[in-house]
Amino acid sequence: MENFNGFNLPPALIQALQKLGFTKPTPIQAQAIPLALTGRDVLGSAQTGTGKTAAFGIPLVTRLINNPSSAALVLTPTRELATQVLKQLTELIGHPTHIRTALLIGGDSMGKQLGQLRAQPRLIVGTPGRINDHLMRRSVNLSKTDFLVLDETDRMLDMGFGVQLEKIVKHMPTDRQTLMFSATMPTNIMKMAAQYLRNPERIAVGSTIAAAPKIKQELIHMPETEKYGKLVNLLEERNGSIIVFVKTKHGADRLAQKLVKHNHSADAIHGDLRQRQRDRVIQNFRDRKHRIMVATDVAARGLDIPHIEHVINYDLPQAPEDYIHRIGRTARAGAEGSAVCLITPADGEKWRAIHRLMHPGEAPPPRSANAPRRFGNSDKPRSPGGFKGPRKGFGGGPRPFNRGGRSAAKAS
Ligand code: AMP
Repeated sequence: MENFNGFNLPPALIQALQKLGFTKPTPIQAQAIPLALTGRDVLGSAQTGTGKTAAFGIPLVTRLINNPSSAALVLTPTRELATQVLKQLTELIGHPTHIRTALLIGGDSMGKQLGQLRAQPRLIVGTPGRINDHLMRRSVNLSKTDFLVLDETDRMLDMGFGVQLEKIVKHMPTDRQTLMFSATMPTNIMKMAAQYLRNPERIAVGSTIAAAPKIKQELIHMPETEKYGKLVNLLEERNGSIIVFVKTKHGADRLAQKLVKHNHSADAIHGDLRQRQRDRVIQNFRDRKHRIMVATDVAARGLDIPHIEHVINYDLPQAPEDYIHRIGRTARAGAEGSAVCLITPADGEKWRAIHRLMHPGEAPPPRSANAPRRFGNSDKPRSPGGFKGPRKGFGGGPRPFNRGGRSAAKAS
């Protein structure tokens, strides 16, 4: 599909797409939109940065415009993602249609949300915990909400929202349309899909285990004691906004404070901050008031901040697939970006697991190396995802480091 005209979308939506500068559907959009417009359930596997939001947003908005009695619910794992998704959906809705919306996320004022709910919104975006709170208070009624989107479902399950999702879905009509997206497709996701979707069409874009193609990746081996000094060098060598990933909440605070002390413009974001503080950190980063955001994996998925030029993995992630989500914060929508990984001798096994995930079937990297190693163009992930090369079918499932499951959510 060369442009959006062939989808027979409502004129208001075509106008909104033009305003957003979306002229050509991305591969996930080209696959998901026609299916969803016919009313099919969709099980989509796509990384963030591929245009996933509009892939479900365009059919969702079409339905709300064409069927005045329809209502939609979008569930996301984090408050930041919910905020961002609602922003894009509101842009797709545009002005003339007057579809009311509500953002139901934890940490936000109940009063404001109750006000939005009294206005009978036809589009609700939120996180599972807060939506359940509203269901319990009976301040929201989903019995006529006939369009459901589950975004980043694997992340929602990782964060322990499985039971909450089940409760929410029970309040919705069974003859609804459901679109479910997930970066990975482990067994628990497939089971959930079988439970919540009716005869879904499966689609996938790129490999679920490959990084976006325009990210230049660099690997630097060093002893633990030299990490901070190296980080400072990297920050000084680079222009533009930088996200630095660390393992723990405490580590994020400590590193940001240390950088500020050394005259770097930095702030920390992690799961212990109140919603308002998190919003402020992200806004300051968006507005370029802070050049450096030190983050735990809570910020690794979903956030769409167009100007992140560099990702530095100060600590490796707890689960290998989070590496792909982390570096996916840069090179969004076809832009270029760079990702650097600082690797200490203790990281050997973690790095090999990441390498295995990104280069299935290849020989593992050497156990130790002292010189910096680069793997830019000559050592790219094999099946680039992002905007290149749509591919049907699914890649491998996630491979946690330990069999006990992922601990990324805990660490954030
Ligand atoms: P997402 O994967 O939904 O987070 O989208 C990643 C980025 O791609 C966002 O900045 C979107 O605004 C942008 N985007 C989505 N669809 C298109 C499109 N068809 N053309 C150009 N940019 C797009």
